[in-house]
Amino acid sequence: MTSAAEFDYSVVGGGLQGCLLAHALAWHRPEATVLLVERADELCGNHTWSFHETDVAEQARSWFDPLVTHRWPGYRVRFSTLSRRVNISYATITSDRLREATLSLAGGAGGPGRAGRLVVRTGESCEILSPTAVRLGGTTDVSCRAVLDCRGRAEAGSPGGAGYQTFIGHEYETAQRWPASEPTVMDVPADQAAGFEFLYELPLGPDRVLLEYTRFHEEPACDESRAVSLIAARLAEADAGSAKLIRSERGCLPMPELVARACPDRVAAEIASAAAEDRLRRGFTRFLNRLLFCLVRPEDRWKIFQRFYRVLPEERISRFYAHRFTFTDAARIMIGWPPMGLAPIRFARSFVSLPGPLPT
Ligand SMILES: Cc1cc2nc3c(=O)[nH]c(=O)nc-3n(C[C@H](O)[C@H](O)[C@H](O)COP(=O)(O)OP(=O)(O)OC[C@H]3O[C@@H](n4cnc5c(N)ncnc54)[C@H](O)[C@@H]3O)c2cc1C
Repeated sequence: MTSAAEFDYSVVGGGLQGCLLAHALAWHRPEATVLLVERADELCGNHTWSFHETDVAEQARSWFDPLVTHRWPGYRVRFSTLSRRVNISYATITSDRLREATLSLAGGAGGPGRAGRLVVRTGESCEILSPTAVRLGGTTDVSCRAVLDCRGRAEAGSPGGAGYQTFIGHEYETAQRWPASEPTVMDVPADQAAGFEFLYELPLGPDRVLLEYTRFHEEPACDESRAVSLIAARLAEADAGSAKLIRSERGCLPMPELVARACPDRVAAEIASAAAEDRLRRGFTRFLNRLLFCLVRPEDRWKIFQRFYRVLPEERISRFYAHRFTFTDAARIMIGWPPMGLAPIRFARSFVSLPGPLPT
């Protein structure tokens, strides 16, 4: 075993959280030295991450805004009996942009860099030995003031808590102009027999669109043929000429999500304390996941989302997504929920052991 140089922070995992943390540290603690380790050959994977702009705290905007690749003033949701435009600014960060900006921060790709203050290691697995030490590639120990664990959620196939959200997304270049200029974050087909599923549409340019099939289900598997047929139907409906596939992404997220764990240094303590403060809200989100998967039959899950968009005004929607909702918001979300298909005994049992699929 060899010992390498010390760093102020070792960030383990170069995905969304790890890279955002590297940027946040560069802004707020420019003097700190940071080691960012990613076990894959490249940082950031292959994703398009979208969010409500109101999710981002005002004090993070200066370093966060340059990472945003696309912005729209609002978005739509479409159900069989509800179509609504939500007037909340929506935005996207792509893996490519985040990777490029992070490498540039480290001094690569001709970027200004931080004179060795950010060191990026890819293609190297990292073991967390203690809150202040990591082992690189099984051989080199690195000590630091704090290890920031950004290894992400459990991977597909691992226990999913309440269930899974699976995606298959295809990005196309179309021969003619794409008819929509704003995203449709849920386009919910009338047939919901397979559990809650919808198409997600992000117009990334006049002739570029990401169409992503999403399904909430007990099983981590994605229905490839269903994805293909829903995407093909939307391409035909949009009538934008021939569509050339330029990129694909896929994923499977266990729900509810986990947050990064942190260590006892000031920055780490701030992260841990923010997570603790947020515990109640995350608890409520997990509770909603249980409602979705354990109390409502798969074919009725869409009604929960439709009701959400039918009754909530914009300010409540943005507080909900930003995890800043109040007790009144939570009450408003719960009153009259869920609409039908109840299985209360199964829901109660879900707190003891997670059930299999509901009987139909
Ligand atoms: C196709 C797709 C689309 C998505 N869209 C959205 C979206 O629109 N909005 C949203 O909020 N979320 C979205 N998500 C969820 C999104 O992936 C997560 O919110 C986000 O990636 C979580 O970031 P993370 O850094 O925690 O995990 P990840 O991005 O998974 O990063 C964890 C990283 O740690 C690395 N790692 C793990 N173990 C080690 C180790 N021992 N040593 C070194 N490296 C390690 C992994 O290789 C990985 O790169 C999407 C996910 C997918 C798959």
